[in-house]
Amino acid sequence: MRAELEKIVGAPALDERPVRDHWPLGIMDERAGNAPPRVLVARPSGREQVAAILRWANANGVRVTPMGGGSGVCGALSPETGELVLDMGAFDRILDVDQTNLTCRCESGVNGLILEKHLNELGLTLGHFPSSLPGTTLGGLIATRSSGQESSRYGNVEDMVLSLAVVLPDGTFAAPRPGPRSAVGPALHQLWLGSEGTLGVILGAVLRVHRLPESVIGRGFAFADLAVQHAQHLVVGQFACLLAGDLLDAHRRQRHPEHTGGAGVPRLHRRGQVGPQPCLQFRHVW
Ligand SMILES: Cc1cc2nc3c(=O)[nH]c(=O)nc-3n(C[C@H](O)[C@H](O)[C@H](O)COP(=O)(O)OP(=O)(O)OC[C@H]3O[C@@H](n4cnc5c(N)ncnc54)[C@H](O)[C@@H]3O)c2cc1C
Repeated sequence: MRAELEKIVGAPALDERPVRDHWPLGIMDERAGNAPPRVLVARPSGREQVAAILRWANANGVRVTPMGGGSGVCGALSPETGELVLDMGAFDRILDVDQTNLTCRCESGVNGLILEKHLNELGLTLGHFPSSLPGTTLGGLIATRSSGQESSRYGNVEDMVLSLAVVLPDGTFAAPRPGPRSAVGPALHQLWLGSEGTLGVILGAVLRVHRLPESVIGRGFAFADLAVQHAQHLVVGQFACLLAGDLLDAHRRQRHPEHTGGAGVPRLHRRGQVGPQPCLQFRHVW
């Protein structure tokens, strides 16, 4: 297998190592002494290489798992001996940002935080903030149908992806819905959102981006107990542009004081509300 893949990607783009994501059971298994097997990892650097690998794997019955940042928590990255992993890290280019139409075209191996910082420098944001953002890639974010902390305002990843470039398992290239919108049939690119690498390898995407808000306002509301669902609904309805709302119990407030402080979020104790009571914290844009 190694010799065949060397012909496609070259020896420096191949290595052998154990591959696992952050699936809790996988971590516990490893701690119990069951180390994951070493598998071959190929790092393709172009569309043709990805297509050639998949054609070869298809013809030889080798199972392939695409890998982004490896931050997944569901055990999708758990290849067995004899399987192949595709490390998409070389697909790391942000190709263009259209500041008029508010779109961004980039490759699937781009790190989530690097993409967000790049957009911020242009006064823009993707608005996608899963807690694991620094450890993710765009391909992984799409393939897991991920959701971020500001989804109330910007939606989930399926609301951000306008079109995709993918290589299908038989090595065919496809660009479902190349334009921002089409009235012809269903939006087929949605098939890959949440596909977890089973329907092919995502090479890149066009994303909807947003202008950064001029200001972000944080507010906190303290409650006597945790029976606040009703209050939460009432308060959420007050904010037209809600970014995020967190229900913090006393334990979380004490362990993570930054959750009741931090950028744009007023600390509750400054308002004389320090105490063990739970609270609702909101951030919204103006
Ligand atoms: C501490 C922590 C916090 C987290 N918080 C959140 C959160 O708030 N919201 C959330 O949604 N998730 C969260 N996650 C889960 C995880 O970060 C996301 O699922 C993330 O989208 C995975 O991206 P990745 O690049 O690391 O993908 P990987 O873990 O590398 O892969 C995940 C899946 O995507 C597939 N894949 C990766 N790249 C490609 C590609 N180019 N083409 C096709 N398939 C591909 C893989 O085969 C696999 O099935 C969290 C994880 C951790 C560890």
